[in-house]
Amino acid sequence: MSGSARIFCVANQKGGVGKTTTTVNLAAGLAQIGQRVLVIDLDPQGNATMGSGIDKRALPASIYDVLLEAATVAEARQRSPQGGYDVLGANRELAGAEVELVALPQRERRLRQALQVVQADYDFVLIDCPPSLSLLTLNGLCAAHGVIVPMQCEYFALEGLSDLVNTIRQVHANLNPELQIIGLLRVMFDPRVTLQQQVSEQLRAHFGDKVFNTVIPRNVRLAEAPSYGQPGVVFDPAAKGAVAFVEFAREMVARLATKA
Ligand code: ADP
Ligand code: MG
Repeated sequence: MSGSARIFCVANQKGGVGKTTTTVNLAAGLAQIGQRVLVIDLDPQGNATMGSGIDKRALPASIYDVLLEAATVAEARQRSPQGGYDVLGANRELAGAEVELVALPQRERRLRQALQVVQADYDFVLIDCPPSLSLLTLNGLCAAHGVIVPMQCEYFALEGLSDLVNTIRQVHANLNPELQIIGLLRVMFDPRVTLQQQVSEQLRAHFGDKVFNTVIPRNVRLAEAPSYGQPGVVFDPAAKGAVAFVEFAREMVARLATKA
């Protein structure tokens, strides 16, 4: 791919649903198949930063500085030592940005603005959103072309989706007409659980091709990888979860190719 980066938010207002795991492993998967990728950690927990092998306590500059225009993306980005992609890191400091941004002009569009100068450097920008529909998430949604929604196939999964879908609609209508849901990604999937199979089929029936073909299985290697500062795709490439994320990377590239 060439030209300008496609920008995607990985979002779901629930915590612990697999946003960060999806972000870093999709990034590493895309890198493995030759794509230039920037990961933006938009969560003050800094899990995508740490999971990419970058110490969140030792960032020379972070996404916080970028949002407040104290640093450019080019100054603040770092290379994931083993991931094969760049990272704009985050730490606790970012929690304060929420309050500080409120008073600033163009408060929802600051990330979008900041990304313009580096769009030519990448094929993909992946934004790991916090578990909320806050001003930080809004900055992500304003900057993005599309949203990837990781979800577990549980009974209440669909119910939780409606707030996110409404927010995306509002952003689409008022702030960013380009924004669309690219797809729902079924994660932590266990085919032995009948309920999960049923919910998975319901998702397909309701959302059709907005559900990605790739399914990410529950796989302990994906959960172990962050403590080694590596995406699962790099930590244990042969593990089922890693293989699935590389497949997902291929699916993303193929989808964009057909849309171009
Ligand atoms: P979020 O960013 O939405 O809060 P995470 O990606 O941090 O969610 O995932 C929550 C927890 O589930 C983490 O401990 C992570 O390692 C684990 N996890 C995520 N995806 C999988 C998977 N496919 N298989 C096993 N564990 C997973
Ligand atoms: Mg997370």
